[in-house]
Amino acid sequence: MAINKVLIANRGEIALRIHRACHEMGIKTVAVHSTADSDAMHVRLADEAICIGPPPATDSYLNIPNIISAAEIAHADAIHPGYGFLSENARFAEIVELHNIIWIGPKPEHIRTMGDKVEAKRTAARLGLPLVPGSDGPVEGIEEARAVAAETGYPLIVKAASGGGGRGMKVVAGASELESQIMQARSEAKNAFGDDTVYIEKYLGDPRHIEFQIFGDGNGNAIHLGERDCSLQRRHQKVLEEAPSPVVSAEERDRMGTIVAKAMAEMGYRGAGTIEFLYENGEFYFIEMNTRLQVEHPVTEMITGMDLVREQIRVAEGHPLSCSQDQIKFQGHAIECRINAEDPQNFTPSPGTVKGFHAPGGMHVRVDSGLYVGYKVPPYYDSMIAKLIVYGSTRERCIMRLRRALEEFVIEGMKTTIPLHQKLIGDPEFQAGDYTIKWLEEWLANEA
Ligand code: ADP
Repeated sequence: MAINKVLIANRGEIALRIHRACHEMGIKTVAVHSTADSDAMHVRLADEAICIGPPPATDSYLNIPNIISAAEIAHADAIHPGYGFLSENARFAEIVELHNIIWIGPKPEHIRTMGDKVEAKRTAARLGLPLVPGSDGPVEGIEEARAVAAETGYPLIVKAASGGGGRGMKVVAGASELESQIMQARSEAKNAFGDDTVYIEKYLGDPRHIEFQIFGDGNGNAIHLGERDCSLQRRHQKVLEEAPSPVVSAEERDRMGTIVAKAMAEMGYRGAGTIEFLYENGEFYFIEMNTRLQVEHPVTEMITGMDLVREQIRVAEGHPLSCSQDQIKFQGHAIECRINAEDPQNFTPSPGTVKGFHAPGGMHVRVDSGLYVGYKVPPYYDSMIAKLIVYGSTRERCIMRLRRALEEFVIEGMKTTIPLHQKLIGDPEFQAGDYTIKWLEEWLANEA
């Protein structure tokens, strides 16, 4: 069914990203926003705007009745949830569909399964994906935990089944800490997600974080769009991402990509998804699947030439995938820098009013951002204010272009992490692609 009007149930750069894809397809947009976002760029550009509540996300961007009412009032025939907020809420997806509104996202049952990391691992195992060794399901009592620990050895990691954003995760160095760390992980998980289910995994010493972008049509066909290397993290949060990974060979990409695409086809998965792995000593270990568009999706777009939001909308309309696996060609290299309104030294949030703004341009430079002069960055939400994505025919050229683009980037009125990225990409180890998930924090500690 053709979509004529999309309600964008999100804010910030991703709301703008979705608006852009819609308008390029001749689709009208409805922005729903909190009172703190009345002046946001995507709200100005959308065909219609509806205020759905006060600044706290629970009252606005997570307010299901208000969002559904807005969709009905505006006669939107589809909802795009972006990332974060309600994007991985299976109940919301069901409610949208119950209202005969098209959900631009995976089937609710797949969102539910993959949102429970214990279920996700079970499903991944059944579909033939390699797992991080660990407990076979949730861990209940301390005796059970000890038995699992005897198998995996120390260090191990306790993770929340409902976890996300790095919360509810505890690394356990030895047997004496096991009980207290499980208790802490449980209470953190209970507070953050209302679910204290935890499981145990072997803690890999020095892996990379490598994820595969996949797309399914919901009818048993699926493709992969290669991998992204997201190893540069601070507190389990990604800072800079690149595609392809500097360490994955074409053969490995092909081999793992074929495995993940086959798994998604077998599942009957619909829309965009990301399968995250830890990668160590040439082996991939599944950690989780995200059933949504990712922040870092543009690096994949740069090296494949595919518009992932457009593809999401087309699949939601019931079209088959726009290309077959054979038609996907990986070309060149792309890097994304997440630019946050934060002090680049101690990462304290630095919201404020934009006094000056100049986005870099030129060949193969993309800036996804809702900033403009006079815009007030609200203090209520995520501190990411822009993404700079740069393409080059090789990784070296990409880094040279990124350096040039960062030089041009001007954001005045608040502290940003631009200087951090400038330093980071000048580092010889980064330039050699020689880093793991622990590298950035160690580098930051040495820089301080
Ligand atoms: P979340 O959903 O909270 O982001 P993930 O399971 O995706 O949690 O893990 C986030 C990050 O935590 C990974 O990218 C990696 O850096 C680290 N991590 C997770 N599991 C392990 C593990 N078994 N061993 C080592 N590091 C891990």
